[in-house]
Amino acid sequence: SSGAVPEFDYLFKLLMIGDSGVGKSTLLLSFTSDTFEDLSPTIGVDFKVKHVTVGGKKLKLAIWDTAGQERFRTLTSSYYRGAQGIIMVYDVTRRETFTNLSDIWGKEIDLYSTNQDCIKMLVGNKVDKESERVVSKKEGIDFAREYGCLFIECSAKTRVNVEQCFEELVLKILETPSLLAEGSAGVKKNIFRQKPPESDASTSGCC
Ligand code: GDP
Repeated sequence: SSGAVPEFDYLFKLLMIGDSGVGKSTLLLSFTSDTFEDLSPTIGVDFKVKHVTVGGKKLKLAIWDTAGQERFRTLTSSYYRGAQGIIMVYDVTRRETFTNLSDIWGKEIDLYSTNQDCIKMLVGNKVDKESERVVSKKEGIDFAREYGCLFIECSAKTRVNVEQCFEELVLKILETPSLLAEGSAGVKKNIFRQKPPESDASTSGCC
């Protein structure tokens, strides 16, 4: 044997969802900009890869962005398939982006998400615009409690709490045995493939 050290201990798929304009792309860029490998042009899927060490584990995070498709509500089950974490973003200065998370995005997660244990992180973005805030921190906390998700407020612009957002989500995934098993480096599964071999209309779970 060559004794080669594996590139990572776990590979996790994370998703960004939420209304157009809430700051999903900016948040993702803010988190990945220093070291990201942009694979989008080569394989036609909009996600970024980031290598991090959290809790002593070497992780490869494949973070999917909607690439604007959320505007037309055309996210399909293949987008959600196999995700261990979902980052639900709203803009603290636009109330409809907050209510849409339960009205629209929550239903879609229920419909398409294939893993019951999938960890959700509610993110109130743009806290740098404090004078324009219309959704209070308390409302975010209450929502998160009701839906059983993690919660953080951040600013993708000033980078306040951006690292923490992803780290807290990943830490929780690391504490969840079923998700760990899926993300283990030894498990062969191609999360970089957008279209499943069979019809995309199928919402039957793969996990
Ligand atoms: P997406 O459609 O959800 O991906 O949103 P974008 O990342 O494209 O951001 C929409 C707009 O909000 C852009 O003009 C961003 O520069 C701006 N934006 C994103 N995050 C923040 C933030 O934390 N603070 C402020 N002030 N503006 C932000």
